[in-house]
Amino acid sequence: MTAPSALTRAILALGSNLGEREGTLASAVADLVDRPEVRLQNVSPVVTTKAVGGPEGQPDFLNMVIAVDTTLSPRELLAHCQAVELAHHRTREVRWGARTLDVDIVTYGDERSDDPVLTLPHPRAAVRAFVLYPWSLMEPNATLAGESVAALAAKAPDMEGIVHVLDVPPAVVP
Ligand code: ATP
Ligand code: CA
Ligand code: CA
Repeated sequence: MTAPSALTRAILALGSNLGEREGTLASAVADLVDRPEVRLQNVSPVVTTKAVGGPEGQPDFLNMVIAVDTTLSPRELLAHCQAVELAHHRTREVRWGARTLDVDIVTYGDERSDDPVLTLPHPRAAVRAFVLYPWSLMEPNATLAGESVAALAAKAPDMEGIVHVLDVPPAVVP
């Protein structure tokens, strides 16, 4: 286990497909790093992606990832991400349904966990272009489970659903 006081690099994935999606992402990033224990290190471009799974006919998602250095423990970071989701009126009615904001912990240092409450790395990140592609744009040399995130993105089944890349919102450049 990583000592809670150590500074650990975490990758967080953000998604929104309801409401003012771009504004939600920008203010969510600001909220995530609005405490001294979480320092913003890098921000990906925003991609527009077709919803994967869940009900048919959902609006497209805006997705992005950020890198933070944190002294929070994995569970503390999860609670913090969920508090930020709640602050953006996240509701959980339908699995993989539309939501104003979703924040997932993709990686927390080299931590590995099978705990369903917090699985690390995120169990589906390695097959999701909507996570891997913006991550590869932010950090071209990043790896996940020993494989390049760019290579993983290229073979992810949802890669063709990525329809547009927006500039990084200026408000969230670290
Ligand atoms: P998916 O997990 O497939 O991306 P989702 O994000 O829509 O789906 P949620 O309803 O947001 O799923 O989360 C369900 C539960 O997943 C959360 O209550 C949380 O405890 C758990 N969870 C497990 N691992 C992680 C992780 N790495 N990051 C965020 N939540 C996680
Ligand atoms: Ca998710
Ligand atoms: Ca989630």
